[in-house]
Amino acid sequence: MRRVVIIGSGPAGLTAAVYAARANLSPLVIEGWQSGGQLTTTTEVENFPGFAKGIMGPELMKEMRGQAERFGTEFLTGDVTKVAFGAHPFTIDVDSGGTIETKAVIIATGASAIQLGLKNELRLTGHGVSTCATCDGFFFRGKELIVVGGGDSALEEATFLTKFATKVSVVHRRDRLRASKIMQDRALKNEKIAFVWNSVVEDILGDAFVTGAKLKNIVTGKTAELPGAGVFVAIGHRPNTALFSGQLDMDQRGYIRTSRGTMTSIPGIFAAGDVQDPVYRQAVTAAGTGCMAAIDAERYLESLHA
Ligand code: NAP
Repeated sequence: MRRVVIIGSGPAGLTAAVYAARANLSPLVIEGWQSGGQLTTTTEVENFPGFAKGIMGPELMKEMRGQAERFGTEFLTGDVTKVAFGAHPFTIDVDSGGTIETKAVIIATGASAIQLGLKNELRLTGHGVSTCATCDGFFFRGKELIVVGGGDSALEEATFLTKFATKVSVVHRRDRLRASKIMQDRALKNEKIAFVWNSVVEDILGDAFVTGAKLKNIVTGKTAELPGAGVFVAIGHRPNTALFSGQLDMDQRGYIRTSRGTMTSIPGIFAAGDVQDPVYRQAVTAAGTGCMAAIDAERYLESLHA
């Protein structure tokens, strides 16, 4: 029987682990098959306090994991396949390690990239279609690329891709960007980045590999083909909450509802990070709520005299 199990190994999960371990709760982190969450697919993190010169996302996560481990956190590699939160003890099934029983749970499963939902997008994923410039940008040295979206993710991906590509076209469905001012300024100043406004991707072209995209201008109704060896889709994220559906209160978009700190609708189950945050979604806010969740779990266990 565990006292607290943390599901997820991004900034929320690992910060919860640091605090829970230092409170002698001997936490177990179920870290998925790929530890570290979304920051492992990003480049330079310039807005996490404490790193005046910035730090690479994967390096930051490695440091956080090491910090959690140093205080006695245990890690289990594998994905959770089922949870039962209806009775005590709570149970968690993991594909790599049977069923775990626990008195408290911190959910920090984060969010995943949204896709366009096109048939050829799925078919060509890994053959030119990607949601991670950091992972795949290297393969496109000297090529022309397409990025879809108008938020911070799209501009971050586009800016990063200019290290490899000869030209990056950002296709956005409106004529105004959603991204923050600083990211806009950077991208607009970058000579390798071009913007295709008021346009949606109707299809992704290519047989074995991506050769371009079919675009539709939603103002004029005209379609056109834009050549490119890669299409990077950066149109936002969806919370990873399918596992908890029907067991915890969620909002319309599937984010877990929390109140009084990180409490969910079931006492003893806490949620931290992007899985419960449709608004801020930053590494530092995820880490902050991870800390809160560990303190909330500690108080809950004290109230049980556990
Ligand atoms: P986002 O802010 O939700 O932006 C998504 C973009 O994709 C929007 O421009 C949206 O268009 C467009 N879009 C959505 N669905 C689409 C569809 N089906 N087809 C075409 N376009 C579509 O998501 P995000 O850029 O991933 O950013 C999420 C959060 O993380 C934000 O708070 C952001 O500030 C933060 N973030 C920060 C950094 C950084 O500071 N370094 C980097 C990445 C992300 P509309 O504008 O028309 O809605």
